Amino acid sequence: MSTIFSKIIAREIPADIVYEDDLVLAFRDIAPQAPVHILIVPKQEIATVNDVSAADEEALGRLFIVAAKIASDEGIAENGYRLIVNCNADGGQEVFHLHMHILGGRRLGPMLAKH
Ligand code: AMP
Repeated sequence: MSTIFSKIIAREIPADIVYEDDLVLAFRDIAPQAPVHILIVPKQEIATVNDVSAADEEALGRLFIVAAKIASDEGIAENGYRLIVNCNADGGQEVFHLHMHILGGRRLGPMLAKH
């Protein structure tokens, strides 16, 4: 089932794209939760972390390579940032096309809400 991220990859709907290569696309989150909030998505649609396979290894590795590059480009590498991949309901996943959040530009506080 196609998601809104597939439409962004296909340029069917607009997004503020900050990086693209053969395997991944990165764009600014539409509802940023920090001064820098960027999503990196593999171009191949993988619904959740539960659906990854060995064939996805290169694309998933690329997510980290690109996260480090974007952190550097956005000027948050030295102060630090957080990478998040949510999975299914308890993880708070809303878009079922696997993606990595890059959050930074302020002190992010505790890793999880205390409730
Ligand atoms: P998750 O809860 O991990 O599935 O995160 C989905 C993220 O996608 C949320 O942070 C949304 O704000 C973001 N999002 C949803 N639609 C768009 C869109 N059209 N462009 C950019 N970000 C989006």
